[in-house]
Amino acid sequence: MFPVAGGRANVGFGLPRRPGVSVRPMAAQWRGLLERPPLRALLGNAEPEGHHRAWPIPADLARAPLSQGRVLFAGDAAGATDPMTGEGIGQALLTGVLAAEAVAAAGSDPGAVARHYRAAVAHHLAPDLRFAAALGRILASPAGALLAVRAAGLTPWTRRNFARWMFEDYPRALALTPSRWRRGAFTGPGAYPAA
Ligand SMILES: Cc1cc2nc3c(=O)[nH]c(=O)nc-3n(C[C@H](O)[C@H](O)[C@H](O)COP(=O)(O)OP(=O)(O)OC[C@H]3O[C@@H](n4cnc5c(N)ncnc54)[C@H](O)[C@@H]3O)c2cc1C
Repeated sequence: MFPVAGGRANVGFGLPRRPGVSVRPMAAQWRGLLERPPLRALLGNAEPEGHHRAWPIPADLARAPLSQGRVLFAGDAAGATDPMTGEGIGQALLTGVLAAEAVAAAGSDPGAVARHYRAAVAHHLAPDLRFAAALGRILASPAGALLAVRAAGLTPWTRRNFARWMFEDYPRALALTPSRWRRGAFTGPGAYPAA
């Protein structure tokens, strides 16, 4: 839920589009969600305005090509969205930067530029998206989701660090990829520095 101007909010929900998971009942699910007591409590007396809208979010880096001839694909065009959360702004910026760096580093040979770009994406982003996909599968079960919420809420330290991890203050799978560790990688100010 995002606050927007005029005391309004943008409220959305995500649904994985996997084989066997139909998007057809989404409208009914949406109405059902709005009736759930915890969500009602959060929304207070807010009422929906306008129509509900749906957008597909491409989240499959392994499936989409990263390059074609002299063209490099970044962001949604590369399927670079986080498959657990549907977030893709940071990933679009990162792949854009990596694409520009590949052009700057590898010069005028399109094949060399593409190889440089693929290697950079494999190093800087692919582990995070694979990790997010694996976590998404765990969170898809009620038991997995409950366990994750309990683990995240154990202590003030786990709560604080869960929020930092969730809001991508550092790459999702950084803890599992020592090759990306740098001094201060886990302790930077992050997206929401304390005032
Ligand atoms: C409902 C929704 C909520 C989301 N919430 C979040 C969120 O909270 N956090 C987050 O990180 N991500 C979120 N995302 C995902 C995020 O918006 C995208 O992953 C991100 O915007 C991708 O950036 P991009 O530059 O690759 O593509 P886009 O932002 O889609 O930019 C592509 C641009 O190209 C333009 N374009 C298309 N075709 C042409 C053409 N032929 N000629 C010229 N221009 C063209 C389009 O108009 C568009 O402006 C959300 C997505 C949706 C749908």
